[in-house]
Amino acid sequence: MVHEFDAVIVGAGGAGLYAALEASKTAKTAVLSKLYPQRSHTGAAQGGIGAALGNVEEDSPEWHAFDTVKGGDYLVDQTAAKVLAEEAVRAVYDLENRGLPFSRLENGTIAQRRFGGHTHHFGEGPVHRSCYAADRTGHMILQTLYQQCVKNDVTFYDEFHVVDILLEGTRAHGVVAFELKTGELHVFKAKAVLFATGGFGRMFKITSNALANTGDGPALLARAGIPMEDMEFYQFHPTGILGMGILITEGVRGEGGILKNREGERFMERYAPTMLDLAPRDMVSRAIMTEVMAGKGMRGDRKIDDYVMLDASHLGRETVEKKIPDIADFCRTYLDVDPAVDAMPVQPTAHYAMGGIPTDTHGRVDTGRAVYDGLYAAGEAACVSVHGANRLGTNSLVDLVVFGRRAGRHIAEYVRGASAPREFANATDASRAKIGGLREKKNGAHVGPIVQRMQEVMMTQVGVYRDQAEMDDAIKQIQELRDEFKEVGAQDTGDGFNAEVLNILELESLLDLSLLTAAGAANRTESRGAHSRRDFPDRDDDNWLKHTMATIDDDGVVIDYKDVDLGIWEPKPRVY
Ligand SMILES: Cc1cc2nc3c(=O)[nH]c(=O)nc-3n(C[C@H](O)[C@H](O)[C@H](O)COP(=O)(O)OP(=O)(O)OC[C@H]3O[C@@H](n4cnc5c(N)ncnc54)[C@H](O)[C@@H]3O)c2cc1C
Repeated sequence: MVHEFDAVIVGAGGAGLYAALEASKTAKTAVLSKLYPQRSHTGAAQGGIGAALGNVEEDSPEWHAFDTVKGGDYLVDQTAAKVLAEEAVRAVYDLENRGLPFSRLENGTIAQRRFGGHTHHFGEGPVHRSCYAADRTGHMILQTLYQQCVKNDVTFYDEFHVVDILLEGTRAHGVVAFELKTGELHVFKAKAVLFATGGFGRMFKITSNALANTGDGPALLARAGIPMEDMEFYQFHPTGILGMGILITEGVRGEGGILKNREGERFMERYAPTMLDLAPRDMVSRAIMTEVMAGKGMRGDRKIDDYVMLDASHLGRETVEKKIPDIADFCRTYLDVDPAVDAMPVQPTAHYAMGGIPTDTHGRVDTGRAVYDGLYAAGEAACVSVHGANRLGTNSLVDLVVFGRRAGRHIAEYVRGASAPREFANATDASRAKIGGLREKKNGAHVGPIVQRMQEVMMTQVGVYRDQAEMDDAIKQIQELRDEFKEVGAQDTGDGFNAEVLNILELESLLDLSLLTAAGAANRTESRGAHSRRDFPDRDDDNWLKHTMATIDDDGVVIDYKDVDLGIWEPKPRVY
C-alpha cells in the first residue's frame, strides 16, 4: 500500500511529537511509531527538564550553555549549546501553556531542583535549574504533546516499524514500513522525513533503556551510507538499580541524596570537592568503579558484589514520597528497600547515546560534507551536537523539545517549496527479500545467544573503562556476530503480529551500532567525557578535539572527522 504525506515523522517520543506538532501547522503530517506513542521511552524520563528560569535562585541561559559545553568535555558545538540553553526557557513555558502539570513552588511558579553539572556563575556551585513534575516529567511531556498532536489532526500509524529509507543521492523521498498487525509492507512517500527513533542502550547488558531502544533510525541511515557522529561517546548513568539497571534518577542526589562506599564514606568529596555527588555523570560513574576496584565497594549481603549505596533516608518520608514517589515504589518492589529508611544499592547503567545521526541546528542531516534535502533527525537518535562527550542530566528533554520544534518548523517551511516525492518502482523489494529470507531460514540460528554475547562484550569491553586490546577484541567479536546473524531465521512464519521478525531486525540495528561504537572508541586514543581509556588517560586537544564521522559496510567501519564549533569558550581542564 502507498501513502503520501508532506512530512513523515518516524518516532512518537518527545522529539517526534514536538516536530509533528510544529510541522502539522501547515504540512500534511504522519507519525509512524513501532510502539503505541505513549509507550515511547520519553515516558520513562524521571528527573526533569533543565531551563534557566531562575525561580528558586538567580540563573542565566549563558551559565546553562557554559555548563553544557564544559559537561560535554568541550566536544560540544558551542553555538548549538547556546541555542539549546536560550530556547529551553521558552520551551518550558510553552509546555506549561499547553497543559503540562509541573510541580510548583509555594508562590505558584514552576519548581526547580539541582542536577549534576548544572552550576551558577560558570561553575561556582550547584544551581536549581531542573523543572520537574515529581519523578514523572517525561510521562507528562509525552501526554501533553500527544494530546496536542491529536488536536492538530496529525495522522498516527501505530505499530508501524520503519525498515527502509527512500533516498536518491542526498534527497529523501519517503520510507518503507512493516505493519505489525498484518505483516504488510507500506510505502510512505513524503517531501520530508524526520527520524526520532530514540536511543540504543539495548546493546549493553545492564541498561536503563526500554526493550524497544534499538537504534533502528541511525542503523538504517548508516546502512544507507550516511556517517554517524561521535558514536564512541556512550553515557553510563551512575545510579541504576543493582543488577537490573532500572534508573534511579539523579534527582535523588539533586534533592540531597548521598553516595557512600562500604566504609560509609561520602567518597565524592575526593573526586569533585565543589559539586560532590552532583558532578557530571561520567565522573561519578568512574568514581564508583574506582571505589569498587579499590575494594571499597559493597560485598557479601546481596547476590551481586561490588556496588555502592545511595542514601536518601535523611531526607525524610515526606520528601521521598512527594519528590521521588516512583523511585520509592521501584525500590520497594524490586529491592525490598524503603528509601525513606534504608540506602539503595546502585551501580552504573548504560543510559544515553551522545552520538548518532549528524544534524545542523535545524535538524537537517548534515555530515559536514553534505546537507541532505528533506532528511531530518531529532532527539536521542540525532547528534546536533549539544552533548559532546558527556550529556548533562535534564539536557535530553530540552534537546527533544528545542530541536524537535526547530526541525518541525524547518520542515513546515521546506515542504512548501519542495517538489513532490519521486516514485520508486521497486521501493519494497529489498525489505521484502530480507524479511522473506528470514522466514525461509525457519531452522536457522536463534537470536538469543547473539544478543547475549553482544551485550556482554559491549558491557565488559566497551563500557565505563576501556583499553585497546579489549576494544580490538570487541570489534572482532561483533564482526563474528554480524556473520552469525546472516544465518538467523524466524521460526514464526505467520503474517499477523510477527514480533519475532521485528526482534531480528532490531538485533541487526544493535549489531551495526555496536560495531560503530566499538570502532570509534578503539580509534580515539585519548580520554574525554564518557570515553575513558586506561591506556590513554588524558584528554588530548591537540589531536582529538574533533568529531568522529564513522561509515559502516559489510567489511567494517571507515572513520573520518568533522570540526567542533569552538566559537565561544576556550577549552579548559574540567574541574568540579
Ligand atoms: C529511565 C530513563 C530516564 C530518563 N530521565 C531523563 C530525565 O529526567 N531528563 C532528561 O533530560 N532525560 C532523561 N532521559 C533521557 C531521555 O528520556 C531520552 O533521551 C529521550 O526521552 C529520548 O526521546 P526521543 O524522542 O528521542 O525517543 P523515544 O522517546 O525513545 O521515542 C522513540 C520513538 O521511536 C519509535 N521508533 C523506534 N524505532 C522505530 C522504527 N523502526 N519504526 C517506527 N518507529 C520507531 C518508537 O516507537 C518511539 O515512539 C531518561 C532516559 C531513561 C531511559
